[in-house]
Amino acid sequence: MNQTDAVGMACASDVPAVGKWLHLDIGQIVAFDDFTQNDDCYWWSQMCSTCVDRIGKDALENLLDDCGSGICGVVGCNNESDYYIDFPDDKIKFV
Ligand SMILES: [Zn+2]
Repeated sequence: MNQTDAVGMACASDVPAVGKWLHLDIGQIVAFDDFTQNDDCYWWSQMCSTCVDRIGKDALENLLDDCGSGICGVVGCNNESDYYIDFPDDKIKFV
């Protein structure tokens, strides 16, 4: 996103995320070391089916979208991803 094209406000959660982890709290903390913010200010990443199965698909059900591509964003995992995951703003923090 080109910041100079932004009209009005910047993203409220537009924090410098370099070198940080994103913690997703879904009753358990899932840590991501690779994540991206889209033009609508939502944070997203990718997950592989191994991580999804380990965490529990039920817990992630409403956040996942099929057809992810790239490398799984979960800390310590370098598998090819199978899903996109959209992070709810009220369930994430940067640590
Ligand atoms: Zn993974």
